[in-house]
Amino acid sequence: MARPSDHVDGARLWRRLMDLSRFGARPDGGVDRQTLTPAEIAARADLVALGRSLGLEPFTDAAANLFLRLPGRRPDLPPVMAGSHIDSQPTGGRFDGAFGVLAALEAVEAIRAAGLVPERPIEVVAFTNEEGSRFAPGMTGSDLFTGARAMAEVAAIRDAEGIAQGEALAAVLAADRDVPQRPFQRPVAAFVEPHIEQGPVLERDGVPIGVVTGIQGTRRYRVRVTGAAAHAGTAERHERRDALMAAVRMVAAIDRAASDPSDTKLTVGLFEVTPNAPSVVPAEVLFSIDLRHPDNAVVDRLDAAIRAIVEGERGPCAASLRQIQHNPSLTFSPVIRGAIAAAAGGLGLTHRDILSAAGHDARQLHDVCPTGMIFVPCRDGISHNPAEWAEPDDLAAGARVLADVLWQLANGDGPGADASGDPGIPR
Ligand SMILES: [Zn+2]
Repeated sequence: MARPSDHVDGARLWRRLMDLSRFGARPDGGVDRQTLTPAEIAARADLVALGRSLGLEPFTDAAANLFLRLPGRRPDLPPVMAGSHIDSQPTGGRFDGAFGVLAALEAVEAIRAAGLVPERPIEVVAFTNEEGSRFAPGMTGSDLFTGARAMAEVAAIRDAEGIAQGEALAAVLAADRDVPQRPFQRPVAAFVEPHIEQGPVLERDGVPIGVVTGIQGTRRYRVRVTGAAAHAGTAERHERRDALMAAVRMVAAIDRAASDPSDTKLTVGLFEVTPNAPSVVPAEVLFSIDLRHPDNAVVDRLDAAIRAIVEGERGPCAASLRQIQHNPSLTFSPVIRGAIAAAAGGLGLTHRDILSAAGHDARQLHDVCPTGMIFVPCRDGISHNPAEWAEPDDLAAGARVLADVLWQLANGDGPGADASGDPGIPR
């Protein structure tokens, strides 16, 4: 029998990636296609047209997530889904997200070209606002789809211009041409997200396919230290409430605490001083903490340490710590990981297990269905950068693996048959 992967056309996939990168193209070769902007709306409309031309049925939902559906023999069964996102950072590259969506499209086209009709429907998906650069936090499209967040909360998030995400969503949905809306929380049989690694491991090892084992845990905080403004020349040391000195003590102590274990990722990327004047004792500091480690126990231990440090180092200032995000580490479905490894092996492609250091929509989908990710190498691990680059052969290899994985999952059976006769895909 024909294998879907035999019909994957790497040159076509590359051409479509380059075509998509014209939407929001930056003069330096990168992409600025932030979520729900005119550039992304135009790219989305282009994808709808492309999907229709391939015989796929487009639909959306109230989060403007875009789905392109290949019918299966059993329209009553939950679909197998694959894709990623088409929004980018303001200084984004051409492959982050876009590769996942277009690889899924290529895989579906290959299945059709092989003359195959899957048992289950297969849906290509582009989730809204993965990046969170315009409306923070990100992944609100997959959060809404899976029910992790409610629309009222997401709609109220405003961008730097004061535009509410709800208004931006309404504008995008109004621009759709005959794209029907479906409800959130539709059942999904399985989800596979192809993505560039955004790290150096696969390139360094010369391995084209990464079987992603899971996503490392993240906690994000905002710390506000409040002191009092005073004259730099006249205020005595004992009467100062210097918010910056307190914040610096906290950051230094947190950095020391996070040095063990040495693979802990600690970042203080935002640091705002008020009034930020050379001859005024700082009255207030706001800083961020981004803490990541694959072992939840490490993250939890450091969480307690950070809280103690903020309290212990505040001196005469007041300090408040607010945790704004907590995503525990997760381990992807062994069934999906096994399917990816088997498909790569069947194609003679070397593969290795790899942990995702960055978050992806797959995190959200993992909560509702068996989920996995396929990584492909990217040059020097550079991403969120106009210099982002992936080799066409590696991208084609990722799409070929995906095509065979989707075909297997869409016809997949396993234990757990339910009353509807759905054989189900085990987690
Ligand atoms: Zn991405």
